[in-house]
Amino acid sequence: MQNNQTSGFTEITPTAEIETSLHGGRAKCLQRLIRLDMPVPRTVALDFGSVHGVSAGELPDLDAMLALFGPDPLVSVRPSSEDPDWGGPGAILNIGMNDKVHAHLVNSHGETAANALYLRFIQSYAVHVGRLDPDEFDALTTPSADTLREALDLYEEETDEYFPQDPKVQLAEILRSMARAWEGTTARLLRQAKGAPADAGLGLVVQQMVLGVGQGICGSGVIQFVNGTTGHREIRGRYLCKSQGRDALADAEDRDVMYLTKDPRGRSIEEVLPQSFADLVRYGEFCRARLREEMEIEFTIENEQLFILDAVRVPRSERANVRIAVGLAKDDIITRSDAVMRIPPRALAELLHSQVDPDGKRDHFASGIAASPGAATGKMVFNARAAQTLASQGENCILVRRETSPEDIRGMHAAKGILTIRGGITSHAAVIARGLGLPCVVGAGDLTLDKRNGKLRSAEGRELREGDVITIDGSAGEALVGAVDMMSPELGESFQTLMTWADEFRDIGVRANADTPPDARNARMFAAEGIGLCRTEHMFIDDDRLLAMREMIFADHTDDRRAALDRLLPMQRADFTELFEIMQGQPVCIRLFDPPLHEFLPHGREGLRELAEALDLPLKDVERRVAGLREFNPMLGMRGVRLGVTVPEIYDMQARAIFEATVEASKSGAPVVPEVMIPLVSAKREVEIVKARVDAVAAAVRIEQGADFTYRLGVMVETPRAALRAGEIAQHASFMSFGTNDLTQMTYGLSRDDAGRFMGEYVSQGVYEEDPFHMLDADGVGELLEIGAERGRAENDDLTLSICGEHGGNPESIRFCRDAGFDYVSCSPFRVPVARLAAAHLAI
Ligand code: PEP
Ligand code: MG
Repeated sequence: MQNNQTSGFTEITPTAEIETSLHGGRAKCLQRLIRLDMPVPRTVALDFGSVHGVSAGELPDLDAMLALFGPDPLVSVRPSSEDPDWGGPGAILNIGMNDKVHAHLVNSHGETAANALYLRFIQSYAVHVGRLDPDEFDALTTPSADTLREALDLYEEETDEYFPQDPKVQLAEILRSMARAWEGTTARLLRQAKGAPADAGLGLVVQQMVLGVGQGICGSGVIQFVNGTTGHREIRGRYLCKSQGRDALADAEDRDVMYLTKDPRGRSIEEVLPQSFADLVRYGEFCRARLREEMEIEFTIENEQLFILDAVRVPRSERANVRIAVGLAKDDIITRSDAVMRIPPRALAELLHSQVDPDGKRDHFASGIAASPGAATGKMVFNARAAQTLASQGENCILVRRETSPEDIRGMHAAKGILTIRGGITSHAAVIARGLGLPCVVGAGDLTLDKRNGKLRSAEGRELREGDVITIDGSAGEALVGAVDMMSPELGESFQTLMTWADEFRDIGVRANADTPPDARNARMFAAEGIGLCRTEHMFIDDDRLLAMREMIFADHTDDRRAALDRLLPMQRADFTELFEIMQGQPVCIRLFDPPLHEFLPHGREGLRELAEALDLPLKDVERRVAGLREFNPMLGMRGVRLGVTVPEIYDMQARAIFEATVEASKSGAPVVPEVMIPLVSAKREVEIVKARVDAVAAAVRIEQGADFTYRLGVMVETPRAALRAGEIAQHASFMSFGTNDLTQMTYGLSRDDAGRFMGEYVSQGVYEEDPFHMLDADGVGELLEIGAERGRAENDDLTLSICGEHGGNPESIRFCRDAGFDYVSCSPFRVPVARLAAAHLAI
């Protein structure tokens, strides 16, 4: 046995010191196969240090290495990086082929086989070492003596050198070209993009060739024992007679394919070589049980004898990955925590939504921000009403808007996907779409929407008309022309099992942001532990309610306002009762009214006229009132608790609706303890004022209903001042929920609805590492979270802490919140599984 100390390489034997961190994953895997007694041809490994030395001109002892492979050796070289995903140079086979070996092989294996092997090697050598253009060899495919001569001539003409005949020279040059390829800039950038460290090393394995060509039964193939798309256990793979390496995977239309298992279409290995087939199946089981993974085995058959050349983790979709991990844990091959850790939380998005089939064709039309995952196909519509009309006719549609506003909500419900030209990751369209689980692309700024002529134009000048079919890929942030192949969501048993296991480890709560009964049902479906944010304004979109709301806004006197609110009260009560019933005693945190009032007013002239008619007021009056409500900076204006303080009747009505619903729902089901949340606070006094009124309403409802109930009152921390003054605010609050959308907006002084316009540029120039609306800014906004949590808890040690901004579903933000001692995170229902899994990863 050779070891690295003296020769620069190590023969892979069961006891040799081979480490993934020194020799790479392939070398280690080959050692495991050898330990499992599989027929692996003799192999040696060069560690990262040796390969680095090769690129600097220091070669291992090649004489000693080649001597291991006998006289006239033929070998292959394959890369062995620490993580197979980091890539590496392609394998080179048949090193050692020269005129002499060719002559031998003509006798032993026949002329065609000998020519094919030599030709293949000349081509690889010429391309990888001589740096010749691969196209020049395109025509040289027939394994004849003439072609061989032509290939050798071509090599000599282009390089001004004879084709090297000495195996040692060939091997030295190949090792050098592979070592250098690894250190090239492009390869380095590519692997760094996949998470490799800057100094990631390359190992190489040199293996005795098993030819796979010749006169008896010969060939090569790959076999898997699991379907890489679905994760179901089944034998799959390809085998090609008289072939080498991974040839069987190339298009093999008129070549000599043999099936692996019995097949009515032709011969199979199972029938022709039953022993080899049985061995392959056994090796697959070994791999699964001992390597604790579903492996794809690369094998070669030479004169009916089976050799195992390599094994790699079966390439797989995310859904297959879940089924495989759960299957391995159920068979006690890995632990439940291993299974949980094998699934990247973000990968669950692929299971929760329909996806564009990765193998399907894509006709790209526009790119934007991937705001809500999944994919949907439908006819383009340019306004919410058209979306509702098409949906009522049973047609799928995609709502395309410059940006969306609360008026579009019902159209958004009716659409299958949303595309906007403006907006960022926390814009209205993005937030609503994530809540609804609809695919959404926002900020597709290169598009021009010509509503008048019903056209949408791309940056390249391509035009689509309203009604044309498009597909939104919200996972990739793309709009595609036409319908494409899709993969359906996969919430089957394996998914459910994995999530149950994740919950066994998790030590931070996960709730859902849910505004409507369907949202709440989704929250339960994904096993959220309650509702962390119910944005009540979304309940006012319905036509009846909108009108009552508008009457309330237009009321000149308190009495008129009360009358309008009295009409809204039963509707809100019914909303809350239904939510409480669906949540079956789980906590439901209801945020009192938040947005600026004018968001509920019509914008266009036509809308104003309709409103004047409905309110029986002169158009001029309506126009004047609407103009009077207009603010220069509405997001920093009359909204949230500021409304609660100055127009207290709205919160009174909402508090009453919540408490009456509490009494109602508690009659038939588990007792409800509602949580009432005050938005946008920045001063202690705001909380005192609202709390006094809410307490008064609760007392009144208790007396009127003759029923007792408890409730919790808390605040949203969305302004930097609320975080800084959390100590005094917490004296009046039983919980604090950080609304990191507004908090990010206000900390940066950055509009969440407009930032999409320059965010790409900012991130690409490194001004921001990431879009802070997408990834919690741990340094700035995060510091406010820490200050708020610490100061709040210092004054009130029972204070419940949570996050309910869009960051709540983001694995990195969950880590931050867990470290800061938060009790739970709350996110859109469809992100709840991602959050549950991410939280489990943190606890394992
Ligand atoms: C927030 O600001 O983080 C939040 C959850 O509230 P909204 O997105 O409704 O403003
Ligand atoms: Mg907010």
